[in-house]
Amino acid sequence: MFSSESKADNANRLRAIIDTAVDGIITIDARGIIESTNPAVTKQFGYMTDEMIGRNIKMLMPEPDRTQHDGYLEKYNHTGQGKIIGKGREVIGRRKDGSTFPFLLSISEIQLTDKKIFTGIIHDISELKEVKDALKKEMELNELKSRFVTMASHEFRTPLSAILSSASLIGKYNDSDDESKRQKHVNRIKSSVANLTGILNDFLSLSKLEEGMVQVSFSEFNIKELSQEILDELNSVLKEGQRIEYNHNGNSEIVILDTHIIKNIIINLLSNASKYSSEGKPIEFRTTVNNEHLRITVADQGIGIPDEDKSRLFNRFFRAQNATNVPGTGLGLNIVQKYVSLLDGTISFDSKLNEGSQFEITIPNSKKS
Ligand code: ADP
Repeated sequence: MFSSESKADNANRLRAIIDTAVDGIITIDARGIIESTNPAVTKQFGYMTDEMIGRNIKMLMPEPDRTQHDGYLEKYNHTGQGKIIGKGREVIGRRKDGSTFPFLLSISEIQLTDKKIFTGIIHDISELKEVKDALKKEMELNELKSRFVTMASHEFRTPLSAILSSASLIGKYNDSDDESKRQKHVNRIKSSVANLTGILNDFLSLSKLEEGMVQVSFSEFNIKELSQEILDELNSVLKEGQRIEYNHNGNSEIVILDTHIIKNIIINLLSNASKYSSEGKPIEFRTTVNNEHLRITVADQGIGIPDEDKSRLFNRFFRAQNATNVPGTGLGLNIVQKYVSLLDGTISFDSKLNEGSQFEITIPNSKKS
């Protein structure tokens, strides 16, 4: 190597290469004791050289590797000069401040006259990982958008043709005694528009959630008043003879949570309860507040959920086999689940086919004093 230059020049040149390398270069002995590091290692892990030399390599590993590390290099008894022990294995490093980062590790063996040492090359891939994650997210969003377009072009057709036919019928009812027919078609238009708005809202909520754009904003409010407000809004979209029986229990009516999110969750569950049960069936709606949490329960006596579909209920676009005659997107419960997890809550349900379903959400009311 560098034959025309003196030995000292060569050594300096090698030193400069190691010192300016972008990748971390670290040498350890067979017990894992660090013998040397280059400046890149200091940058990557945040330790000064002196803080690393003489200590075990496991200081640069996160748990559980840190405790489980067993000086495995000692087991490589029959290797030799330049032998590659690991090539570009993806591992996680732990910085001095406790944070972690992914890197590719290559280890090779160097046989010195008196002992063998191992060189580790540490190639930080955190930026690459971020780019890959962003790309994956982007692809998922694209998939969501194209599936939405497919679903919307199908789901939009029914309400749009209902609006069109009702509008032209209204145009034909000229007599004053046609008033009740006119009203019936006005209501049909209203509920079709509500249906379309619902689909668009679901999609917008989900896109926002997926893009991490939903910020939780806590404020103090009265859950009983909010529920009453929701009931007033929903009364006009319930089926003939359906009614929501609302009850509030617990030692308080005040919660400190995100009003917008709670309202969305409740509207979603109540709309489903109405949609999936027949005319005249009651819907039970209960809120409970105690020191620890807010619990929301919605129970109906509707079509229920087939056992084989239960495990996929919260999947995006999933609709149970007995729901295909009812308009829907299969996005609502997925959105509810995401909202619930933003608030660190849990969601569960119980359902019997043709008897009814009950959904229960529990959200910590931890900020309440
Ligand atoms: P959508 O109602 O738009 O189809 P959701 O995500 O709200 O979408 O619900 C997913 C599926 O879960 C529904 O298609 C339906 O099969 C089932 N489901 C949800 N709520 C109920 C309910 N109260 N009763 C019966 N089935 C329900």
